[in-house]
Amino acid sequence: MPSGMDERRKGLEEEYFHRKNQEAIEKLREKMKVAEEAKAAGISSMRCPRCDGSLAESKFEEVLIDTCDNCGGVWLDSGELEQLTRKESGGGWFSRLLGSEK
Ligand SMILES: [Zn+2]
Repeated sequence: MPSGMDERRKGLEEEYFHRKNQEAIEKLREKMKVAEEAKAAGISSMRCPRCDGSLAESKFEEVLIDTCDNCGGVWLDSGELEQLTRKESGGGWFSRLLGSEK
């Protein structure tokens, strides 16, 4: 027999998931808004993986690096290390740092 109860429960479940979805979308929107505002203010929205301080972008040797304002950690994006080492192929500070001095 066709169960009205099942239909009703299905409807409630759908409503529940619909609401959950809405909540997730709202949260995502909120996050994006925060990131956008931070970007507009010139602040990096990145968090330090080590201490959760905020990372500030700074230029070093023409390469953008992220520096943590809390622990002083320096974070490089993919390719940035390469950029730095390539710049220093003549044997600059970075090569010395890596101990590859002539
Ligand atoms: Zn940090």
